Amino acid sequence: MAELYDVVIVGAGPAGLSAAIYCMRKMLKTVVISKDVGGQVVLTGSIENYLGYGNKSGMELAGIFEAQAKEFGTPMVMAEVERIEAEGDEFLIRTTGAELRARAVIATGGSSYKMLDVPGEGELLGRGVSVCATCDAPFSKDRIVAVVGGGNAAFQSAELLTKYAKKVYIIHRRQSFRADEILIQRVGKSRYVELLTETCVVEITGSRKVDGIVLLDMKTNGRRRLDVDMVFVEVGRVMKLDYVKHLVETNEIGQIRVDREQKTSRKGIFAAGDITDRKYGQAIIAAGDGAVAALSVYDYLREL
Ligand SMILES: Cc1cc2nc3c(=O)[nH]c(=O)nc-3n(C[C@H](O)[C@H](O)[C@H](O)COP(=O)(O)OP(=O)(O)OC[C@H]3O[C@@H](n4cnc5c(N)ncnc54)[C@H](O)[C@@H]3O)c2cc1C
Repeated sequence: MAELYDVVIVGAGPAGLSAAIYCMRKMLKTVVISKDVGGQVVLTGSIENYLGYGNKSGMELAGIFEAQAKEFGTPMVMAEVERIEAEGDEFLIRTTGAELRARAVIATGGSSYKMLDVPGEGELLGRGVSVCATCDAPFSKDRIVAVVGGGNAAFQSAELLTKYAKKVYIIHRRQSFRADEILIQRVGKSRYVELLTETCVVEITGSRKVDGIVLLDMKTNGRRRLDVDMVFVEVGRVMKLDYVKHLVETNEIGQIRVDREQKTSRKGIFAAGDITDRKYGQAIIAAGDGAVAALSVYDYLREL
């Protein structure tokens, strides 16, 4: 028979590790199962907005999170959770390594950003290529930037960037934008913004940092180079929840719906961080959600 835990936490990003610390301090029999430790934080060149830590590299901050979780003896299993099944009041968790049982689950699988998949993008991520305007807009002061995408996220990022950058291009491959009309009007009339439609970014250039992009005009098939210092990729996110999505309610963009106590539509399953329908994807928010989820699990188990 698979071993029974009070709570299985899926994911070891800020949400999962924060939840783990709270669960361990509540003396719950806990295990964290994750493919890696630190989650998206390790992809971050430097994080300036995590309270208490000033300017830290993502690797450094993830190391601090992990060390703190280990201080409380948090058991961690490096594996992928493939599927969770409900069995009465319990859950069966199938991983690439083993099967476990749990009375509660905290899903914190996070998300990944869709990328353009063009030459230069991967090499220059964190060196001028960004997927997070909230995180990196302050680095664009007096610079020329490009925002790639045509939805609300692209326009909201562009609007924020106009407060720092001296020029903001919004580049979209289609003829019309998907963003709300009111946002398009407001951002589009800014003197700092130039809209380029039916245009694709086919390459990001630069050796140590971004110095430009190559654009393909989809009407003429012509290519041209544009000097920019930063590129914000805003073409969507993918939620990592295949293992649990058959059990919980999600919203129209695939995020798990949660209430203020991080409860999902399924009794016993809680969710925290980027995977949820929270509007903002930030490390400190994920960590806060993780703490709430753990306290909620504690109350839930007591009531059981
Ligand atoms: C390039 C970049 C820069 C950023 N900069 C900042 C910044 O400056 N400030 C800021 O606050 N935020 C920043 N963010 C956002 C921040 O990193 C995320 O909001 C935060 O990491 C979300 O935490 P999370 O725990 O919800 O998910 P994640 O960090 O995504 O962690 C999810 C974890 O779950 C694991 N996992 C997923 N599926 C499974 C599975 N099936 N089985 C087992 N494990 C699984 C993953 O391997 C990972 O360890 C940045 C993000 C990126 C990508």
